[in-house]
Amino acid sequence: MSNRRESETEIDDYIFCSKCGKIIPSNANNGICTKCDTPLNQPVVHKRLNTNKVWEEYFPYIEVRPLQNQIIESISEENNNQKHIIIQAANGVGKTIAILAALLPICIKKKKTIVYCCRTHQQMSRVIEELKMIKQLKPISGIALRGRKELCLHPIIQKFALDAANAADICRYLKKENKCKYFSNIAKTDIKTKIEDLTKKQVLDSLEIFEIGKSFEVCPFEISKKVIPNVNVVAASYQHIFNPGVQANFLQNLDKELKNIILVIDEAHNLPSTAVDISSNSLSNFSIDNAKSEAIKYKMGEIYDLLDALSLILLDESSSLEINEEMSFNPDDFIKKVEKSAGQKIDEQFLKSLDRLADFVKEMQVKQNKAPLSYTSAVVSYLNRLLETKTRDDFAHFILKTESKTGNISSKLLTQSLDPRSITRDILDSVHMSVSLSGTLDPIEAYASLIGLQLENLKSLSLPSPYRKENHVTLVVDKISSKLEDRIPATFLKMLEVITETVESTPKNVGVFCASYVIMRSILETGLERAISKPLFIAHQGMSSRENDKLIQDFKNESRKKGGVLISVLGGRSSEGSDYPGGEMQSVIIVGIPYARPTPTVKASIDYLEKQFPTKGREFGYNIPAITRAAQAAGRPIRSLEDYAVIMLLDYRFARHYYKKH
Ligand code: SF4
Repeated sequence: MSNRRESETEIDDYIFCSKCGKIIPSNANNGICTKCDTPLNQPVVHKRLNTNKVWEEYFPYIEVRPLQNQIIESISEENNNQKHIIIQAANGVGKTIAILAALLPICIKKKKTIVYCCRTHQQMSRVIEELKMIKQLKPISGIALRGRKELCLHPIIQKFALDAANAADICRYLKKENKCKYFSNIAKTDIKTKIEDLTKKQVLDSLEIFEIGKSFEVCPFEISKKVIPNVNVVAASYQHIFNPGVQANFLQNLDKELKNIILVIDEAHNLPSTAVDISSNSLSNFSIDNAKSEAIKYKMGEIYDLLDALSLILLDESSSLEINEEMSFNPDDFIKKVEKSAGQKIDEQFLKSLDRLADFVKEMQVKQNKAPLSYTSAVVSYLNRLLETKTRDDFAHFILKTESKTGNISSKLLTQSLDPRSITRDILDSVHMSVSLSGTLDPIEAYASLIGLQLENLKSLSLPSPYRKENHVTLVVDKISSKLEDRIPATFLKMLEVITETVESTPKNVGVFCASYVIMRSILETGLERAISKPLFIAHQGMSSRENDKLIQDFKNESRKKGGVLISVLGGRSSEGSDYPGGEMQSVIIVGIPYARPTPTVKASIDYLEKQFPTKGREFGYNIPAITRAAQAAGRPIRSLEDYAVIMLLDYRFARHYYKKH
């Protein structure tokens, strides 16, 4: 850093806000800081670092922290000749701005688009905030994308759409029937010009796009489609790149091929499991029975017969299963049984007939002013997946019996992907370059192997923790664990004692994240609510995301009152999708190690990975996902350099060398 100080030069056309550190052009915003609203007509520092490095032109803060400098230098063109970069760095380092400052010069020079894949909308907004800072220095542009369901102005979608796919179906029919004025308005020349003026070369969050659309009565989703081909950075979801169906439309709208994309994968530890989820598919007897009703309604006798055979054979095969039990099945044998019973083939022609029925059902529903929803669609989608994967060894097939939160028992066919690379490898091979980022990627070799990166094409960087040691204390509690043989009343009593003591010694909020719902219920049944003096917020199994959001907000509000206790499971929305900075969770308690249940699906995954990566199957498919979930939850309260927390680990195995190094 001392060299950098010596090379400071005065740049008169920029002003540094002495309060927040932002640099803005001296003639901008009438002398008011655009970040913190501080008047700049006071003594200001007209200085900015200048080492003649191109990325500095894109770095809008007065000081580059050493860890940020390491990130930027590892990516910048002069120092990097690798196609893929993996960076492990904790929150609080300032990764987002470092990545953008390093990649934007490459993107502009090589005429590429940066697609910054995020897991949450908050992360996308963070990218946009930083781009807005950079825009004070350079004429760059960017947009945060949201799905049709969130951006649509039409009341039918706002009220009835169940998910993104359903919103797309409704939208298609409304457009076809000329029933969406927000779509028709796009063609009006005067509106089109005004919107183009407002969006051209801008940095826009999805909410801003929504407001522009609303004020001109033009579809915000269509506006974002028109904007993206011309921006430097698109903040998108994983689905935009890694879900083949979504990707095709996204690339078409972007008007680019993958080779023209610089891909950033934020919170990249999620990528292997997301890829596996995208490739897997399931079908319940509930969906098949509803599809049968659709076939009866529209007098499709042959389709009904085959669906009936499918449903009966599924129920018969699953009759010996207990709830939550599963067994593997041979797809060829299963298909032959169904075909024999129905007296017809499950072939391309049959799937086309099913598809036509699904389309017809949806069309009829729209004509009756109902949301288009066809269960036959779910059957087509599953059977297609089953036929495509029946001979592949990177897929396995299971029959399961489950119980819903309302007590309904159902049987399911599951086609499970065992290898994330079936989704990720081709994409990563095709993009111009990729940067994977996360605070929990240890060991980097496992992440790289699971997504199909070749070590010779790869550069990795593991940064030390930026947090001061005195900001967090980690304690491992001895003599208890979440191992099956230790799940006895004495263990839960001991867990309750430690939790109660921690809650009572913590001034305000405490988070308790359990290895499973079984353990969470046992702690509750042992008397948690009675034992503590603070209000308890329970993230029950099966809560909707809206219910969960409200619970989290209520819990966070307690941090400004007398303090509360949140209890939830590891790997859930509360422990990975939410942050608790600024004292919103002063202590976090991790109860047990969240290993997956050793079901046939999990065993199939470990066995497959063992064949692909000899001696590593269990580590890649079982140990690392569990440790990552625990590490993610433990880090939730500490999101910036100012945050502090006590981290209690209630499982003696956390003290072992293997767990400590993660
Ligand atoms: S065109 Fe836009 S506003 Fe109209 S239904 Fe589709 S998403 Fe909604």
